[in-house]
Amino acid sequence: MAHPSSRIIAIVNQKGGVGKTTTAVNLATALAAVNKKVLLIDFDPQGNASTGFGIPQAARTITAYDLVMNEASIEEAVLNTAIPRLKIVPATMDLSGAEIELVSVTRREFRLRDAIERSELPFDYILVDCPPSLGLLTINAMVAAAAVLVPLQCEFYALEGLSHLLKTVELVRTRLNPELSVQGVVLTMHDRRNRLTDHIEQDVRAYLGDQVYEAVIPRNVRMSEAPSHGKPALIYDIHCPGSRAYLKLAAELLKRERQRINEQEAA
Ligand code: ADP
Ligand code: MG
Repeated sequence: MAHPSSRIIAIVNQKGGVGKTTTAVNLATALAAVNKKVLLIDFDPQGNASTGFGIPQAARTITAYDLVMNEASIEEAVLNTAIPRLKIVPATMDLSGAEIELVSVTRREFRLRDAIERSELPFDYILVDCPPSLGLLTINAMVAAAAVLVPLQCEFYALEGLSHLLKTVELVRTRLNPELSVQGVVLTMHDRRNRLTDHIEQDVRAYLGDQVYEAVIPRNVRMSEAPSHGKPALIYDIHCPGSRAYLKLAAELLKRERQRINEQEAA
């Protein structure tokens, strides 16, 4: 059985380049910094989250691919990161094959969930960094997760993709995983000098209300520099505006989790 206290959160958006990996890497780091035991599952064949922690290709011997193909356990796949309490299951290009290979296997939507349930490692949080599609890998992440966290880039077409994404969450909830909820939506790459960005923020808040976190991630060059140093931005430069925004986001996430637990206990 999976450790009963593990809270699984999938970082999803079918668009690429919206800040999923940056959010997964820095949120995982922020949670570990406040003493949580955290596992980050790199679930994108591009392996950006693994690179973001400086995991060289040669060290990625047992990967997320082996997990979903039932060829390895989480215990076998995890690697330490440079950050205490934070471990990662790395990814390689092999994972792109899984999207096709999974089509013909049994429990194809449940492979990640089954792998997590077989593990006895005691994580407080398991974050899954998803690929930029709503294919079988992302469905596996949504079936395994208790909640999704959606990074939304402040750009003109943001809301269009979002309604499709939220419909998919609803479908997964009704057919595959009744527990699935939305932890929240985080606005990323916000540019204060661009008035369009402010309009989009207002639209998104009007449409989604308090599902949108108060924390907004600014566009910040330090955030884009960090991965090439193999470090989360929070370690590369903890004082930059992007890092501070991710610390605020982590605090909000934890607050929502405490509220949820209090509501469950009161019910
Ligand atoms: P995704 O995982 O959704 O494809 P990434 O997190 O990889 O998106 O981000 C896409 C690109 O934008 C990367 O080069 C990343 O370093 C950069 N980036 C992400 N967040 C920010 C930010 N807040 N400010 C500046 N650049 C960012
Ligand atoms: Mg990514």
